[in-house]
Amino acid sequence: MLPLVALVGRPNVGKSTLFNVLTRTRDALVHDQPGVTRDRNYGVARPEGRPPFAVVDTGGIAGQEEGLAGATARQARAAAEEADVVLFVVDGREGPSAIDDEILVWLRRTGRPTLLVVNKTDGIDAQQSLNEFARYGLSDSIAVAAAHRQGLDALLARIYSHLPDAGVSPVLDTDPSRVRLAFIGRPNVGKSTLVNRVLGEERMIASEVPGTTRDSVSIDMERDGRLYRLVDTAGLRRKSRVDEVVEKFSAFKTLQAIEQCQVAVVMFDASEGITDQDATVLGYALDAGRALVIAVNKWDGLTDYQRQQAESLLSRKLSFVEWAEAVRISAKHGSGLRELFAAVHRAHASATKEFSTSEVTKAIEVAYETNPPPTVRGHVPKLRFAHPAGNNPPTFVVHGTRLRTLNDTYRRYLENFFRKRFKLVGTPVRFVFKEGT
Ligand code: GDP
Ligand code: GDP
Repeated sequence: MLPLVALVGRPNVGKSTLFNVLTRTRDALVHDQPGVTRDRNYGVARPEGRPPFAVVDTGGIAGQEEGLAGATARQARAAAEEADVVLFVVDGREGPSAIDDEILVWLRRTGRPTLLVVNKTDGIDAQQSLNEFARYGLSDSIAVAAAHRQGLDALLARIYSHLPDAGVSPVLDTDPSRVRLAFIGRPNVGKSTLVNRVLGEERMIASEVPGTTRDSVSIDMERDGRLYRLVDTAGLRRKSRVDEVVEKFSAFKTLQAIEQCQVAVVMFDASEGITDQDATVLGYALDAGRALVIAVNKWDGLTDYQRQQAESLLSRKLSFVEWAEAVRISAKHGSGLRELFAAVHRAHASATKEFSTSEVTKAIEVAYETNPPPTVRGHVPKLRFAHPAGNNPPTFVVHGTRLRTLNDTYRRYLENFFRKRFKLVGTPVRFVFKEGT
């Protein structure tokens, strides 16, 4: 289960700076792709060697926003009310303000554990800044400078002290032969219809997994002799309740589901193209490094001409995730499901494949000999050997010299070379470059 940390504070104190520092993804290659967008409110922090947590930036909590912005702020506030810990961010240079006072009143009412984060303490007396906020009576407080990553380790330690212990969740504690699968997508793409269709066919062998995450349901099922766990599954609760929850936490629910799955089926609505919200969901799955299958739903409702249009749009907009298989389906009529599950199976097999050090080193040698990287300032980066370092996604540590100078084109070349050589489909592939031996 992904814990939730909420950033609360008046405008301009550095919440979005802190949000970015916490949630910045390691995977720059993927991050900078056009076609991937990110929700400005939600992200996942993945500190090295620690369990991940979700972060929500509540925006200017005290503002009286109207319309859509207001709705977003209300949702974010609702999220803060459910957070495991609230980071109350204030400006250490300006000291307490009237708006801070108001926010504090609101925070007390929520009753959530609160950590006072005094930001912008770079180049000033941090202790004095902390003292200025002492009258807030928040015993748990810390001085940071988000823009300079100062105090980040201490902040993370304080955050983790508020998070529930990361035991193995019942959802993750499954038989390794069972594929953990999540159907994700923006509202109305057809997730519930698909899940009900899939379970309708398999009703006899599906069973609920109780008490896995807050207000979520996971389901075990079997299909064509293979075992699956549908995690955090939409469409099984009464629709009215689902709507309510989805309304409030749509992004958070999606993040939860992604965190718990091995293969994410990202659903699009063929009749609507790919919206910003679709791109955000895709971005979440890519950030998490999950195996990916794209289900283009509502294919039944399109004319031949519309299908052609949809095909060309998809190949253009999804060219950067060429490695993911896209399957045309109709959840309503149940068509394309055999292909969909076959693609899920291939993605899972690739994502969980085991490699030996010798085959990985051999692959690096061949890749290097076939196409050495370009010279940078008179020197050629040298790739020496490599070893596997985990799966889902397959991760390879490459040792050598001047690896920092490898450009993106070369990194992509290595990725594609590995995909081809090891027949990897439907999964991201990660490289970690280590200088020296
Ligand atoms: P938000 O409105 O609370 O999301 O605040 P932003 O993250 O947009 O930051 C507001 C301003 O404060 C920006 O100009 C940031 O560059 C600046 N800022 C953020 N963190 C720090 C910090 O640690 N030190 C200093 N000196 N400035 C910061
Ligand atoms: P969710 O919000 O993603 O769970 O979406 P729903 O499953 O509730 O579906 C939203 C709407 O799309 C409903 O009116 C469905 O009947 C419709 N729908 C779902 N799948 C299909 C499909 O394959 N074809 C067509 N034509 N409509 C579909």
